[in-house]
Amino acid sequence: MNLHEYQGKEMLASFGVAIQRGIVAQTADEAVTAAKKLTETTGTGWHVIKAQIHAGGRGKGGGVRLAKNLDEVRTVAGEIIGMQLITPQTPPAGKPVHQVLVAEDVYYPGETETSEFYVSVLLNRATGRNMIMYSTEGGMDIETVAEETPHLIFTEEIDPAVGIQGFQARKVAFNLGLSGNAFKEMTKFITSLCTAYVESDSSLFEINPVLKTSDNRILAVDAKVTLDANALFRHKDLAALRDKREENPIEVEAGEVGLNYVDLDGNVGCMVNGAGLAMASMDLIKQAGGSPANFLDVGGTADAARVEIAFRIILKDPAVEAILVNIFGGIVRCDRVAQGIVDAYKNMGDAINVPIIVRLQGTNADIAKELIDSSGLNVLSATAFQEAADKVQEAIS
Ligand code: GDP
Ligand code: MN
Repeated sequence: MNLHEYQGKEMLASFGVAIQRGIVAQTADEAVTAAKKLTETTGTGWHVIKAQIHAGGRGKGGGVRLAKNLDEVRTVAGEIIGMQLITPQTPPAGKPVHQVLVAEDVYYPGETETSEFYVSVLLNRATGRNMIMYSTEGGMDIETVAEETPHLIFTEEIDPAVGIQGFQARKVAFNLGLSGNAFKEMTKFITSLCTAYVESDSSLFEINPVLKTSDNRILAVDAKVTLDANALFRHKDLAALRDKREENPIEVEAGEVGLNYVDLDGNVGCMVNGAGLAMASMDLIKQAGGSPANFLDVGGTADAARVEIAFRIILKDPAVEAILVNIFGGIVRCDRVAQGIVDAYKNMGDAINVPIIVRLQGTNADIAKELIDSSGLNVLSATAFQEAADKVQEAIS
């Protein structure tokens, strides 16, 4: 689960990570109030107004703008809130902005002695250890740095038995070319960042940029935080930060009825029991020249009610031209599933407007095929995997 920048920063601050201070606002009025309040604590009159959406590259898209007085805060916040923000990381149509973060300007106008660094914490799957990835080349696209100047990206692996060690944090600060107060602050920054990562059960922190201010302080200016959704049950406070507006609406709905659904770009809807078979089915669709519209694991209980919900969810995607149902009857009997499909189909009537290809294999597969074939519905049955794929191909071509 992803957090908004403002939520990520608040979480990091609660672990002692130094951040650029800010207040979130839903309207231009709230933004002005926020700016006034910030000035009371920070003393600076300049602010930066930052669109809060789950996507990076906001600066490039016009979603991060400076305001040098309260009038500008009002105008800029008013323009950003409600805009459709397009960045290299959003869908082509962009994402609507519902709120902005009003933050203190930590680059202090006129000052040039600032440096931007890149710091992330993530799991190295090759070694099974968490690591810090960092670079002097912050503030820009880290993918470009990785491609053009890979020697400027450093990594530091963390031993899970002992956690981040003092010498490691100092090594990071040293490699970033810091000295004096900035060196001390960076070691503290890295240490508390690693603690926050482990304690919050996160799977990714990406802080780009980490700023060295002209007065040698170290601050997180941006924060991308991804929490491990499987661990949210033990972080009720973090789970409450979920913003469903940022998620795919079909996936949200599927999640609410307990279906494991992932939206994809293709034209063949998939209803499968078991994640492994679902992956294999998607491969087969690709091989047959189609493209999966979704991943959907209906799980063990493929009864009529569940099949109907799954059909309705799949059909919400307008790109779907055919549906492949691929069920292996191990514990669940194929004839029960077939009956479920027939019942759901009859119940849904005109709502089903694409061909359905059903492949049932396993316990009572022959009875199931008989049931489908004699139903008189627009459902094609298959027994072999390849046969099913071929029928899918025929249906969409
Ligand atoms: P992103 O574009 O979505 O990654 O958003 P960031 O939070 O990283 O902001 C984009 C850029 O805006 C940063 O790389 C900074 O260069 C700039 N920026 C952010 N905060 C400030 C600020 O307080 N003052 C100034 N002058 N620039 C800022
Ligand atoms: Mn950034």
